[in-house]
Amino acid sequence: GKLETVPLHGAVDGALELLASTIKKHGVAIEVSIEPEHLEVSANQVLLQQVLVNILNNAIQAMEDRDQRAIVIQARCDEQRVTISVQDSGPGIAAEHQKRIFDPFFTTKKPGQGLGLGLTISKRILKEMSGDITILPSSQGALFVISLLSSSHYE
Ligand code: ADP
Ligand code: MG
Repeated sequence: GKLETVPLHGAVDGALELLASTIKKHGVAIEVSIEPEHLEVSANQVLLQQVLVNILNNAIQAMEDRDQRAIVIQARCDEQRVTISVQDSGPGIAAEHQKRIFDPFFTTKKPGQGLGLGLTISKRILKEMSGDITILPSSQGALFVISLLSSSHYE
């Protein structure tokens, strides 16, 4: 696919808009921190938003049984790469599942609630854009980290 210069704020806001009613219904507090503010990545905006929607939807579902429902989205950069971390206040991912969550059809959800393809597709989309997604150890909830090329490096 063709890569373009995507303002990260636009992609994050776009994903949050698509999920606005779900976020409201579940009472999830969202914190966004993008530094520097006008960070741009080399990506396809629609596909990047789709990846963010997948990750955020998983986080919202994981927090259903929790009293505290919060998601923190943070973006930072070095010269070549931008990293976007998404951390939730859910139960996190069991050690024995962590190796399998990117496998096609791996799901811990009840039949009809998840096909187990969201993370597989997200990783494939990001690799196509010279990016990646991984899970990091976290003291609270699940912590996903997306990396992409910064658009200044790409040009
Ligand atoms: P699905 O959502 O259909 O189950 P995904 O590929 O999106 O498929 O996710 C695979 C599995 O990874 C989920 O079933 C769940 O076990 C785990 N997972 C993903 N995100 C989270 C999260 N934020 N918190 C806890 N578990 C998660
Ligand atoms: Mg999913």
